[in-house]
Formats: sequence, C-alpha cells, structure tokens
Amino acid sequence: MNKANNTKRRQLVVGNWKMNGNQRTNAELLAKVVAGWQGKHNADVAVCPPFPYFQHTLELLASSSIVLGAQSVSEYESGAYTGEVSARMLADWQCRYVIVGHNERRRMQQESDTQVAQKFVAVQREQLVPILCVGESLEQRETGQALAVIHRQLNAVVESVGCDAFEHAVVAYEPVWAVGTGKTATPQQAQEVHHFIRELLGDVGQRVRILYGGSVKANNAAQLFTMTDIDGALLGGASLDAEEFLSICRAADI
Ligand code: PEP
Repeated sequence: MNKANNTKRRQLVVGNWKMNGNQRTNAELLAKVVAGWQGKHNADVAVCPPFPYFQHTLELLASSSIVLGAQSVSEYESGAYTGEVSARMLADWQCRYVIVGHNERRRMQQESDTQVAQKFVAVQREQLVPILCVGESLEQRETGQALAVIHRQLNAVVESVGCDAFEHAVVAYEPVWAVGTGKTATPQQAQEVHHFIRELLGDVGQRVRILYGGSVKANNAAQLFTMTDIDGALLGGASLDAEEFLSICRAADI
C-alpha cells in the first residue's frame, strides 16, 4: 500500500460549497485559504461556489493557484432551459472542473445515470474536466450491492464515451451514507471501491484521479490519503472552514 511504488498521480482536493455562503463570508474564507496556499505544491486545489459567486470567486482567486469548479451543469448546449447553466458558459468563466452526478442531485433532482452521462459529455465537449460522482446508499451497502451500484453508475458513462474519455476526467467515490453525516468510510472500505473503479477503467484506470468524498475532515484525511488508490478528496462541510480545508489540502500535498 505504498504510493511511492504506484503510478504517480497528482492529488486533488475539491471544495463543494453547495448552497452556502455570501459575498462577505466567501471573501473571508478565500482570503484565509489563498494566504495559506501560496507557492508551489504537489496537490491541486479547486473550489466550487454557487453560480452567483463565480465572478467574485474568480477575483478572489486571481493571485492563487486554486482554480474554479462548478457544482452542476446542464446536459444541453443552449436554449430554452430556464434556470440551467451550460458547459460553454462555465468555460467562458474560466471554470476548470465540473461535478456531475453528485448524490444530492441524483436524489433530489432525480438525475438518472443517462442524464449524468450526457452531462459528462457536455463538460468534455468544452474541454472542461468532469468530476463524476458515484456511490451507494446505506441500504445498498448493507445488502451487498455497493460494487454493483458503482459498476452501473460508471458503466452508464463508459458505454456512452468509452474508458479513454477518463483520461480527462476525475472520479469521486462518495458513499451516500457518508456524505454530510459525519460517518466516514474506513480507509480500507474506500480503498476497496477505488481499486474496483480503477480496474473497471482498464489501462486508463491507472492514470485517472479517484477522489474520496464523505465527511472528510482534518483528522481523517491523512489516513485516507495513504491508501494506494485514493488521490485526494471531494469535500462538502470541511471546505467552508479555512483551517479545516487548508489542513486537508496540506495532507494531500505529499
Ligand atoms: C459532498 O457533498 O460531496 C461531501 C463530501 O460532503 P461532506 O464532506 O460534508 O460529507
């Protein structure tokens, strides 16, 4: 389980702010984060603010290596889709990463595997990097279906674009039961699924970055990051606290 023996993949930490923050709190948060993440690092960092704060976030990140990501995107290019934001608009905003298939959208907006695959395609069409979220519910884990669910979610995208498309994508394993609950998968549980995802993607699987997400905090990040197939984290709650966020970024900076 030694990363040094493994294909070198650059670690990535992504903060998903969800529907939180305002101009004042975002400015306070990013001032601290930017000040604490100066110079060169061995890990990449991105933040995904709500859309109304994109421009403000870009201004606050102007002197930083931290990049902008989006929490969601439309699968359509343009047209009469009230309230939606296209991948081309995100590209126009210097967005780098786009989360697709987050479990909150799968559950609350009823996004299907097919729709998630269409979003993945839309993001790559604009040369942006999709972060494809996959993960099982508690019931699915307890009934032994976790790997079958991950397989199904991943396959929906692979069938549409092939494994090679993952050369320019990130995968995030986020067990639904661990997101926002304070319960984290053990490093071994996460490692098992990350390894499974890598194997499913064949050759490209050795190079794709696979993040873990689900109640990652400063006190459990370092242990998760020692696992061979974990290449960083997708954070919700911890990304809203500058010290917590920075500690996790530093744990990934190895
Ligand atoms: C998430 O929403 O992607 C997430 C991982 O949230 P949290 O870190 O709060 O569990």
